[in-house]
Amino acid sequence: MGDEIGFDDLGPLKVIHVHEPSVGLKAILVVDNVATGPSIGGLRMAEDVSAAECARLARAMTMKNAAAGLPHGGGKSVMFGDPKMPRDAKEARIRAFACSLRYEHGYIFGPDLGTDEGCMAWVNDEIGRAVGLPREFGGIPLDQIGATAWGLTHAVEVALEYCDFSLDGARVVIQGFGAVGMHAARFLGERGAVLVGASDSRGAVYDEAGLGVAELIALKTAGKSVIDSPAGEKRERDAAIDMECEIWIPAARPDVIDARNVRRLNAKLVAQGANIPVTREAEDYLHKHNVLCIPDFIANAGGVICGAMEFHGATEGAAMNAVAEKITRNTREVLESARRDGKTPRAAALELATRRVRRAMDNRRWSLF
Ligand code: NAD
Repeated sequence: MGDEIGFDDLGPLKVIHVHEPSVGLKAILVVDNVATGPSIGGLRMAEDVSAAECARLARAMTMKNAAAGLPHGGGKSVMFGDPKMPRDAKEARIRAFACSLRYEHGYIFGPDLGTDEGCMAWVNDEIGRAVGLPREFGGIPLDQIGATAWGLTHAVEVALEYCDFSLDGARVVIQGFGAVGMHAARFLGERGAVLVGASDSRGAVYDEAGLGVAELIALKTAGKSVIDSPAGEKRERDAAIDMECEIWIPAARPDVIDARNVRRLNAKLVAQGANIPVTREAEDYLHKHNVLCIPDFIANAGGVICGAMEFHGATEGAAMNAVAEKITRNTREVLESARRDGKTPRAAALELATRRVRRAMDNRRWSLF
Protein backbone atom coordinates (compact mmCIF):
# COMPACT_ATOMS: atom_id res chain seq x y z
CA MET A 1 0.00 0.00 0.00
CA GLY A 2 1.33 3.47 -0.86
CA ASP A 3 1.45 6.31 1.63
CA GLU A 4 -1.02 8.47 -0.28
CA ILE A 5 -4.02 9.81 1.57
CA GLY A 6 -7.18 9.61 -0.48
CA PHE A 7 -9.43 12.69 -0.21
CA ASP A 8 -13.10 12.61 -1.20
CA ASP A 9 -16.21 14.60 -0.39
CA LEU A 10 -16.54 12.94 3.04
CA GLY A 11 -13.01 13.79 4.19
CA PRO A 12 -10.54 13.82 5.67
CA LEU A 13 -11.12 17.22 7.19
CA LYS A 14 -7.65 17.51 8.72
CA VAL A 15 -4.31 15.77 8.75
CA ILE A 16 -1.92 16.96 11.44
CA HIS A 17 1.70 15.82 11.69
CA VAL A 18 3.23 16.38 15.11
CA HIS A 19 6.94 16.41 15.88
CA GLU A 20 8.67 17.06 19.21
CA PRO A 21 12.32 15.96 19.12
CA SER A 22 12.95 16.47 22.87
CA VAL A 23 10.85 13.37 23.63
CA GLY A 24 11.22 11.60 20.27
CA LEU A 25 7.61 12.23 19.34
CA LYS A 26 6.47 11.69 15.77
CA ALA A 27 2.77 11.24 15.33
CA ILE A 28 -0.16 11.92 13.03
CA LEU A 29 -3.79 12.79 13.64
CA VAL A 30 -6.40 12.36 10.92
CA VAL A 31 -9.81 13.83 11.63
CA ASP A 32 -11.91 12.36 8.88
CA ASN A 33 -15.39 13.77 9.37
CA VAL A 34 -17.10 15.60 12.24
CA ALA A 35 -20.55 16.23 10.73
CA THR A 36 -22.25 14.03 13.35
CA GLY A 37 -20.10 15.37 16.21
CA PRO A 38 -16.51 15.41 17.49
CA SER A 39 -14.62 12.40 16.22
CA ILE A 40 -13.76 9.41 18.41
CA GLY A 41 -11.01 6.99 17.42
CA GLY A 42 -8.10 5.12 18.93
CA LEU A 43 -4.46 6.12 19.31
CA ARG A 44 -2.37 3.36 17.72
CA MET A 45 1.30 3.02 18.61
CA ALA A 46 3.61 0.94 16.42
CA GLU A 47 6.93 1.24 14.57
CA ASP A 48 5.35 0.89 11.12
CA VAL A 49 2.29 3.16 11.21
CA SER A 50 1.70 5.56 8.32
CA ALA A 51 -0.42 8.54 7.34
CA ALA A 52 -2.29 6.43 4.79
CA GLU A 53 -3.10 3.75 7.36
CA CYS A 54 -4.22 6.44 9.80
CA ALA A 55 -6.52 7.97 7.18
CA ARG A 56 -8.00 4.57 6.30
CA LEU A 57 -8.68 3.82 9.96
CA ALA A 58 -10.16 7.29 10.50
CA ARG A 59 -12.62 6.69 7.63
CA ALA A 60 -13.50 3.32 9.10
CA MET A 61 -14.36 5.13 12.35
CA THR A 62 -16.56 7.63 10.46
CA MET A 63 -18.51 4.69 9.05
CA LYS A 64 -18.60 2.74 12.32
CA ASN A 65 -19.73 5.70 14.44
CA ALA A 66 -22.35 6.80 11.90
CA ALA A 67 -23.64 3.25 11.48
CA ALA A 68 -23.90 2.94 15.27
CA GLY A 69 -25.91 6.18 15.36
CA LEU A 70 -23.46 7.92 17.68
CA PRO A 71 -23.20 11.72 17.85
CA HIS A 72 -19.54 11.35 16.88
CA GLY A 73 -17.53 11.49 13.70
CA GLY A 74 -14.46 9.50 12.78
CA GLY A 75 -10.82 10.15 13.55
CA LYS A 76 -7.69 8.22 14.37
CA SER A 77 -4.19 8.98 15.57
CA VAL A 78 -0.95 7.06 15.20
CA MET A 79 2.35 7.41 16.99
CA PHE A 80 5.62 5.99 15.69
CA GLY A 81 7.53 3.79 18.16
CA ASP A 82 7.69 0.46 19.92
CA PRO A 83 4.71 0.26 22.29
CA LYS A 84 6.86 -1.85 24.66
CA MET A 85 9.39 0.98 25.15
CA PRO A 86 10.18 1.96 28.77
CA ARG A 87 7.15 3.41 30.51
CA ASP A 88 8.73 6.83 31.16
CA ALA A 89 9.55 7.34 27.50
CA LYS A 90 6.10 6.22 26.40
CA GLU A 91 4.41 8.46 28.94
CA ALA A 92 6.48 11.48 27.83
CA ARG A 93 5.51 10.94 24.19
CA ILE A 94 1.84 10.39 24.88
CA ARG A 95 1.60 13.41 27.17
CA ALA A 96 3.41 15.56 24.57
CA PHE A 97 1.13 14.32 21.79
CA ALA A 98 -1.97 15.05 23.86
CA CYS A 99 -0.71 18.57 24.66
CA SER A 100 0.03 19.27 20.99
CA LEU A 101 -3.63 18.49 20.23
CA ARG A 102 -5.14 20.35 23.17
CA TYR A 103 -7.10 22.70 20.90
CA GLU A 104 -8.23 19.95 18.51
CA HIS A 105 -11.66 19.66 20.08
CA GLY A 106 -12.88 17.68 17.08
CA TYR A 107 -10.91 14.63 18.25
CA ILE A 108 -11.44 12.45 21.32
CA PHE A 109 -8.68 9.92 22.08
CA GLY A 110 -9.42 6.24 22.69
CA PRO A 111 -7.19 3.17 23.18
CA ASP A 112 -6.07 1.02 20.24
CA LEU A 113 -3.20 -1.33 19.44
CA GLY A 114 -0.22 -0.40 21.61
CA THR A 115 -2.17 1.84 24.01
CA ASP A 116 -4.40 1.06 26.97
CA GLU A 117 -6.47 2.66 29.71
CA GLY A 118 -3.32 3.87 31.51
CA CYS A 119 -2.29 5.78 28.36
CA MET A 120 -5.78 7.29 28.20
CA ALA A 121 -5.38 8.41 31.83
CA TRP A 122 -2.26 10.41 30.79
CA VAL A 123 -4.16 12.00 27.90
CA ASN A 124 -7.06 12.79 30.19
CA ASP A 125 -4.71 14.30 32.77
CA GLU A 126 -3.28 16.65 30.13
CA ILE A 127 -6.33 17.68 28.12
CA GLY A 128 -9.41 15.97 29.63
CA ARG A 129 -10.46 14.46 26.31
CA ALA A 130 -10.20 10.66 26.22
CA VAL A 131 -12.40 7.58 26.51
CA GLY A 132 -11.47 4.09 27.67
CA LEU A 133 -10.28 5.49 31.01
CA PRO A 134 -9.55 3.52 34.18
CA ARG A 135 -12.55 3.09 36.48
CA GLU A 136 -11.20 5.67 39.00
CA PHE A 137 -11.75 8.35 36.35
CA GLY A 138 -15.26 7.25 35.43
CA GLY A 139 -14.05 4.80 32.81
CA ILE A 140 -15.94 1.67 31.80
CA PRO A 141 -13.50 -1.27 31.40
CA LEU A 142 -14.95 -2.43 28.09
CA ASP A 143 -12.62 -5.39 27.52
CA GLN A 144 -13.16 -6.68 31.04
CA ILE A 145 -16.94 -6.56 30.73
CA GLY A 146 -16.95 -7.71 27.10
CA ALA A 147 -18.73 -4.71 25.53
CA THR A 148 -17.77 -5.64 21.97
CA ALA A 149 -18.75 -9.29 22.43
CA TRP A 150 -22.05 -8.18 23.97
CA GLY A 151 -22.80 -6.24 20.79
CA LEU A 152 -21.64 -9.14 18.63
CA THR A 153 -24.01 -11.48 20.48
CA HIS A 154 -26.94 -9.18 19.73
CA ALA A 155 -25.90 -8.96 16.08
CA VAL A 156 -25.87 -12.78 15.95
CA GLU A 157 -29.33 -12.98 17.52
CA VAL A 158 -30.77 -10.70 14.84
CA ALA A 159 -28.89 -12.50 12.05
CA LEU A 160 -30.50 -15.79 13.12
CA GLU A 161 -33.82 -14.42 11.84
CA TYR A 162 -32.19 -14.67 8.40
CA CYS A 163 -30.68 -18.16 8.92
CA ASP A 164 -32.16 -21.66 9.05
CA PHE A 165 -30.90 -22.67 12.51
CA SER A 166 -31.41 -21.50 16.07
CA LEU A 167 -28.87 -20.56 18.72
CA ASP A 168 -29.84 -23.50 20.88
CA GLY A 169 -27.23 -26.14 20.10
CA ALA A 170 -25.60 -24.06 17.34
CA ARG A 171 -21.90 -24.90 16.98
CA VAL A 172 -19.55 -21.94 17.33
CA VAL A 173 -15.89 -21.61 16.35
CA ILE A 174 -13.88 -18.64 17.55
CA GLN A 175 -10.65 -17.62 15.88
CA GLY A 176 -8.75 -15.48 18.42
CA PHE A 177 -9.76 -16.31 21.97
CA GLY A 178 -8.90 -12.86 23.38
CA ALA A 179 -10.93 -10.02 24.88
CA VAL A 180 -13.59 -10.15 22.16
CA GLY A 181 -13.47 -13.91 21.48
CA MET A 182 -13.72 -15.21 25.02
CA HIS A 183 -16.63 -13.00 26.01
CA ALA A 184 -18.43 -13.91 22.77
CA ALA A 185 -18.03 -17.59 23.70
CA ARG A 186 -19.42 -16.83 27.15
CA PHE A 187 -22.46 -14.80 26.02
CA LEU A 188 -23.35 -17.20 23.20
CA GLY A 189 -22.85 -20.18 25.50
CA GLU A 190 -25.28 -18.66 28.00
CA ARG A 191 -27.81 -18.59 25.16
CA GLY A 192 -27.45 -22.28 24.32
CA ALA A 193 -24.73 -22.25 21.66
CA VAL A 194 -21.90 -24.80 21.91
CA LEU A 195 -18.28 -23.77 21.47
CA VAL A 196 -16.68 -26.54 19.40
CA GLY A 197 -13.47 -24.78 18.34
CA ALA A 198 -11.19 -21.98 19.51
CA SER A 199 -7.78 -20.71 18.51
CA ASP A 200 -5.16 -18.18 19.54
CA SER A 201 -1.74 -17.24 18.22
CA ARG A 202 -0.29 -20.58 19.44
CA GLY A 203 -2.78 -23.06 18.05
CA ALA A 204 -6.33 -24.36 17.97
CA VAL A 205 -8.44 -26.78 19.99
CA TYR A 206 -11.50 -28.74 18.87
CA ASP A 207 -14.16 -30.88 20.49
CA GLU A 208 -17.35 -31.66 18.63
CA ALA A 209 -19.09 -32.36 21.95
CA GLY A 210 -18.23 -28.86 23.18
CA LEU A 211 -15.31 -27.18 24.92
CA GLY A 212 -15.45 -25.80 28.46
CA VAL A 213 -15.74 -22.03 27.99
CA ALA A 214 -14.98 -21.18 31.64
CA GLU A 215 -11.89 -23.43 31.61
CA LEU A 216 -10.56 -21.81 28.43
CA ILE A 217 -11.18 -18.32 29.82
CA ALA A 218 -9.32 -19.26 33.01
CA LEU A 219 -6.35 -20.48 30.94
CA LYS A 220 -6.20 -17.32 28.85
CA THR A 221 -6.58 -15.07 31.88
CA ALA A 222 -3.60 -16.90 33.42
CA GLY A 223 -1.54 -16.00 30.34
CA LYS A 224 -1.72 -19.48 28.80
CA SER A 225 -3.01 -20.71 25.44
CA VAL A 226 -6.16 -22.58 24.45
CA ILE A 227 -3.86 -25.46 23.46
CA ASP A 228 -2.81 -25.84 27.10
CA SER A 229 -6.31 -27.16 27.79
CA PRO A 230 -6.28 -30.85 28.76
CA ALA A 231 -9.60 -31.32 26.91
CA GLY A 232 -10.19 -31.35 23.15
CA GLU A 233 -8.02 -32.23 20.15
CA LYS A 234 -5.09 -29.88 19.52
CA ARG A 235 -4.67 -28.59 15.99
CA GLU A 236 -2.47 -26.08 14.24
CA ARG A 237 -3.54 -22.44 14.49
CA ASP A 238 -5.21 -21.97 11.12
CA ALA A 239 -7.13 -25.23 11.40
CA ALA A 240 -9.86 -23.11 13.02
CA ILE A 241 -10.81 -22.07 9.49
CA ASP A 242 -11.78 -25.64 8.54
CA MET A 243 -13.80 -26.51 11.64
CA GLU A 244 -17.41 -27.25 10.73
CA CYS A 245 -19.88 -25.05 12.61
CA GLU A 246 -22.96 -22.90 12.25
CA ILE A 247 -21.35 -19.65 13.53
CA TRP A 248 -17.75 -18.71 12.74
CA ILE A 249 -16.34 -15.72 14.60
CA PRO A 250 -13.09 -14.11 13.52
CA ALA A 251 -11.75 -12.17 16.52
CA ALA A 252 -8.03 -11.92 15.86
CA ARG A 253 -6.33 -10.38 12.82
CA PRO A 254 -7.30 -8.56 9.61
CA ASP A 255 -7.57 -10.40 6.26
CA VAL A 256 -7.64 -13.92 7.73
CA ILE A 257 -10.19 -15.05 5.15
CA ASP A 258 -9.34 -14.22 1.56
CA ALA A 259 -9.99 -15.51 -1.93
CA ARG A 260 -7.50 -18.35 -1.46
CA ASN A 261 -8.88 -19.90 1.73
CA VAL A 262 -12.56 -18.87 1.73
CA ARG A 263 -13.64 -22.24 0.29
CA ARG A 264 -12.35 -23.93 3.44
CA LEU A 265 -14.93 -22.18 5.64
CA ASN A 266 -17.71 -24.55 6.65
CA ALA A 267 -20.19 -22.26 8.42
CA LYS A 268 -23.56 -20.63 7.84
CA LEU A 269 -22.99 -17.33 9.61
CA VAL A 270 -19.81 -15.26 9.95
CA ALA A 271 -20.01 -12.64 12.70
CA GLN A 272 -17.03 -10.32 12.34
CA GLY A 273 -15.55 -9.45 15.72
CA ALA A 274 -12.16 -8.41 14.31
CA ASN A 275 -11.70 -5.44 12.00
CA ILE A 276 -11.63 -6.33 8.28
CA PRO A 277 -11.09 -10.06 8.90
CA VAL A 278 -12.61 -11.05 5.53
CA THR A 279 -11.47 -9.50 2.25
CA ARG A 280 -14.09 -8.05 -0.09
CA GLU A 281 -13.57 -10.83 -2.64
CA ALA A 282 -14.06 -13.47 0.04
CA GLU A 283 -17.15 -11.69 1.37
CA ASP A 284 -18.65 -11.65 -2.12
CA TYR A 285 -17.91 -15.37 -2.47
CA LEU A 286 -19.65 -16.10 0.85
CA HIS A 287 -22.64 -13.99 -0.15
CA LYS A 288 -23.01 -15.95 -3.40
CA HIS A 289 -22.86 -19.20 -1.42
CA ASN A 290 -25.54 -18.13 1.07
CA VAL A 291 -23.20 -17.66 4.01
CA LEU A 292 -24.41 -14.61 5.89
CA CYS A 293 -21.64 -12.18 6.91
CA ILE A 294 -22.36 -9.47 9.47
CA PRO A 295 -19.89 -6.73 8.53
CA ASP A 296 -17.24 -5.76 11.07
CA PHE A 297 -18.28 -2.14 11.59
CA ILE A 298 -21.84 -3.20 12.40
CA ALA A 299 -21.05 -6.28 14.49
CA ASN A 300 -18.06 -5.02 16.49
CA ALA A 301 -19.20 -1.46 17.29
CA GLY A 302 -19.89 -2.35 20.93
CA GLY A 303 -16.52 -1.04 22.08
CA VAL A 304 -16.91 2.41 20.58
CA ILE A 305 -20.55 2.68 21.66
CA CYS A 306 -19.39 1.93 25.19
CA GLY A 307 -16.60 4.54 24.87
CA ALA A 308 -19.03 7.19 23.63
CA MET A 309 -21.43 6.43 26.49
CA GLU A 310 -18.53 6.76 28.94
CA PHE A 311 -17.65 10.14 27.42
CA HIS A 312 -21.20 11.32 28.04
CA GLY A 313 -21.08 10.17 31.67
CA ALA A 314 -23.19 6.99 31.42
CA THR A 315 -23.01 4.12 33.90
CA GLU A 316 -21.80 0.67 32.89
CA GLY A 317 -25.36 -0.67 32.82
CA ALA A 318 -26.62 2.16 30.62
CA ALA A 319 -23.66 1.67 28.28
CA MET A 320 -24.35 -2.06 27.90
CA ASN A 321 -28.05 -1.34 27.24
CA ALA A 322 -27.06 1.16 24.55
CA VAL A 323 -24.73 -1.42 22.94
CA ALA A 324 -27.53 -4.00 22.81
CA GLU A 325 -30.16 -1.58 21.56
CA LYS A 326 -28.07 0.11 18.86
CA ILE A 327 -26.52 -3.07 17.50
CA THR A 328 -29.84 -4.89 17.42
CA ARG A 329 -31.48 -2.04 15.51
CA ASN A 330 -28.61 -1.49 13.08
CA THR A 331 -28.06 -5.15 12.30
CA ARG A 332 -31.77 -5.53 11.51
CA GLU A 333 -31.79 -2.42 9.31
CA VAL A 334 -28.72 -3.58 7.41
CA LEU A 335 -29.81 -7.20 6.91
CA GLU A 336 -33.33 -6.14 5.95
CA SER A 337 -32.08 -3.70 3.35
CA ALA A 338 -29.56 -6.25 2.02
CA ARG A 339 -32.34 -8.82 1.58
CA ARG A 340 -34.79 -6.32 0.07
CA ASP A 341 -32.32 -4.93 -2.47
CA GLY A 342 -30.38 -8.15 -3.10
CA LYS A 343 -27.03 -6.70 -2.10
CA THR A 344 -24.35 -7.74 0.34
CA PRO A 345 -24.77 -6.73 3.99
CA ARG A 346 -21.56 -4.69 3.67
CA ALA A 347 -22.93 -2.70 0.73
CA ALA A 348 -26.15 -2.09 2.69
CA ALA A 349 -24.17 -1.06 5.81
CA LEU A 350 -21.97 1.35 3.88
CA GLU A 351 -25.05 2.91 2.31
CA LEU A 352 -26.69 3.32 5.71
CA ALA A 353 -23.60 4.93 7.26
CA THR A 354 -22.90 7.19 4.28
CA ARG A 355 -26.51 8.34 4.19
CA ARG A 356 -26.32 9.31 7.87
CA VAL A 357 -23.07 11.24 7.40
CA ARG A 358 -24.39 13.07 4.32
CA ARG A 359 -27.62 13.98 6.07
CA ALA A 360 -25.61 15.46 8.94
CA MET A 361 -23.37 17.31 6.47
CA ASP A 362 -26.43 18.84 4.78
CA ASN A 363 -27.23 20.66 8.01
CA ARG A 364 -23.87 22.36 8.25
CA ARG A 365 -22.69 25.64 6.76
CA TRP A 366 -19.43 24.08 5.59
CA SER A 367 -19.53 20.51 4.51
CA LEU A 368 -16.49 19.33 6.46
CA PHE A 369 -15.56 21.77 9.24
P1 NAD B 1 -6.81 -9.50 22.11
O1 NAD B 1 -5.37 -9.17 21.91
O2 NAD B 1 -7.40 -9.46 23.47
O3 NAD B 1 -7.10 -10.97 21.53
C1 NAD B 1 -6.66 -11.40 20.29
C2 NAD B 1 -6.52 -12.93 20.34
O4 NAD B 1 -6.22 -13.39 19.04
C3 NAD B 1 -5.41 -13.42 21.25
O5 NAD B 1 -5.86 -14.53 21.98
C4 NAD B 1 -4.31 -13.85 20.27
O6 NAD B 1 -3.50 -14.91 20.76
C5 NAD B 1 -5.14 -14.31 19.10
N1 NAD B 1 -4.47 -14.33 17.81
C6 NAD B 1 -3.54 -13.48 17.32
N2 NAD B 1 -3.21 -13.84 16.07
C7 NAD B 1 -3.95 -14.93 15.77
C8 NAD B 1 -4.08 -15.75 14.62
N3 NAD B 1 -3.37 -15.49 13.52
N4 NAD B 1 -4.96 -16.78 14.65
C9 NAD B 1 -5.69 -17.02 15.76
N5 NAD B 1 -5.62 -16.27 16.87
C10 NAD B 1 -4.76 -15.24 16.87
O7 NAD B 1 -7.59 -8.54 21.11
P2 NAD B 1 -9.13 -8.13 21.13
O8 NAD B 1 -9.29 -6.86 21.87
O9 NAD B 1 -9.96 -9.30 21.49
O10 NAD B 1 -9.37 -7.78 19.60
C11 NAD B 1 -9.49 -8.79 18.62
C12 NAD B 1 -9.87 -8.17 17.29
O11 NAD B 1 -11.11 -7.46 17.44
C13 NAD B 1 -8.89 -7.14 16.73
O12 NAD B 1 -8.94 -7.22 15.33
C14 NAD B 1 -9.47 -5.82 17.17
O13 NAD B 1 -9.08 -4.77 16.31
C15 NAD B 1 -10.94 -6.11 17.03
N6 NAD B 1 -11.81 -5.25 17.84
C16 NAD B 1 -11.67 -5.23 19.20
C17 NAD B 1 -12.52 -4.44 19.95
C18 NAD B 1 -12.43 -4.42 21.46
O14 NAD B 1 -13.33 -3.85 22.07
N7 NAD B 1 -11.45 -5.02 22.08
C19 NAD B 1 -13.50 -3.65 19.33
C20 NAD B 1 -13.63 -3.72 17.93
C21 NAD B 1 -12.77 -4.54 17.21
